[in-house]
Amino acid sequence: MARPTFSLFRQLAGDPLALGRAARSGRSEELVPRTATADRVARSICPYCAVGCGQRVYVKDEKVIQIEGDPDSPISRGRLCPKGSASKQLHEHSRRERRVKYRRPGGAEWEELSLDQAMDMIADRVLATREATWEDTDDEGRHLHRTLGFAHLGGATLDDEENYLIKKFFSAMGALQIENQARI
Ligand code: SF4
Repeated sequence: MARPTFSLFRQLAGDPLALGRAARSGRSEELVPRTATADRVARSICPYCAVGCGQRVYVKDEKVIQIEGDPDSPISRGRLCPKGSASKQLHEHSRRERRVKYRRPGGAEWEELSLDQAMDMIADRVLATREATWEDTDDEGRHLHRTLGFAHLGGATLDDEENYLIKKFFSAMGALQIENQARI
């Protein structure tokens, strides 16, 4: 850190607002941002909300060392809000949940399931609900071909292609209530 006396001299010697060399020290001159040491930079999108701010993910030794706003993004032009700025923690926090947790109806404890088992359980329930709630015709015999037994609410960071497929899939299943968080 620069010693105050020398900083004052440097300020008086041509940096009156102390925004330049008066505030520098030998130590600060040597500092480099950790992004400069990255092996590579991956482009990504912040996963938190519907804005979809662009991110640059700096990787070193195959580990994320920093995530910053992407100046090339037309959406966010290099900016991230505090949530997006903290997304490195989301990626690597020791308490990040990586297993499916399930609490049975009436249960008081969380159980861990494999992803395959959880997906099979979801599929079984969707099919059973469709079977139980299917409406083929109304009271006057007009075709309905629908179910009101389930709905889909998409997350804001689903992309266009994913939303397209979700809409196709749930419409094919007979669902009417298909919405996305980004529009709410
Ligand atoms: S950085 Fe903030 S505003 Fe941008 S997508 Fe992430 S959460 Fe949303």
